[in-house]
Amino acid sequence: MNKQSLISLYVLAMTVALTGLAVSAAVDADTASAALTREAQAAITPARALKMLKEGNERFVTGDSVKRDFLAQVRQTSKGQFPFAAVVSCLDSRIPPAIVFDQGIGDLFVARVAGNFVNDDILGSLEFATRLSGARLVVVMGHTECGAIKGACDGAQLGLLTATLASINPAVKAVQGDYTPRTSKNAGFVQAVAEMNVQLTMQMLYDRSVVLREMIDRGEIGLVGAMYDVSSGKVTFADRLLHGQ
Ligand SMILES: [Zn+2]
Repeated sequence: MNKQSLISLYVLAMTVALTGLAVSAAVDADTASAALTREAQAAITPARALKMLKEGNERFVTGDSVKRDFLAQVRQTSKGQFPFAAVVSCLDSRIPPAIVFDQGIGDLFVARVAGNFVNDDILGSLEFATRLSGARLVVVMGHTECGAIKGACDGAQLGLLTATLASINPAVKAVQGDYTPRTSKNAGFVQAVAEMNVQLTMQMLYDRSVVLREMIDRGEIGLVGAMYDVSSGKVTFADRLLHGQ
């Protein structure tokens, strides 16, 4: 291939890239200020949904969150909702997903339970969020300094909370390595359990829900793990979006 052809190809590639940027910027402006429509939701791929969450968290941590007219969004969503992602998060008061991802009303489904694990009720809710309502990405988000994780590490017992914490025990047991002590007094151990809990929760989701597994395998939805840092507001996502295994 001669030099002229290479330059032409380069220009063509740049044009395509810049056109893509312009389209993507327009989509961003729309989705940031107005509630999502069915058409906007349908145009969002799992990878794009992840990018939108990353960009939203970046706006949040830099103090650049979008100024929204929430009452206008209430009116816009009164006849229907078209969220682009579903987040499984902890009960912890410091992690309101819509705020830390800088999203508005109608943008996210959120399932919250102490220790951000899944059971059949939450999996059923996620099947509703994705298969029936069109969300394109499921995020399982743990966090630093999690009281539920600490309670599970210590074998805490209290009323019905004992059964809740039992759902985190597999993560406590699964963490290998030379952690001493294996209690909430060891910050490294607590963090390792929190991260393991995200991994096992994603695996449980994939193994237990046929509906979600089929959508993941077909690339219709993405599944990704994340950790939220309560000291910075920063969400760190796993390296890659999980499609299938
Ligand atoms: Zn927590």
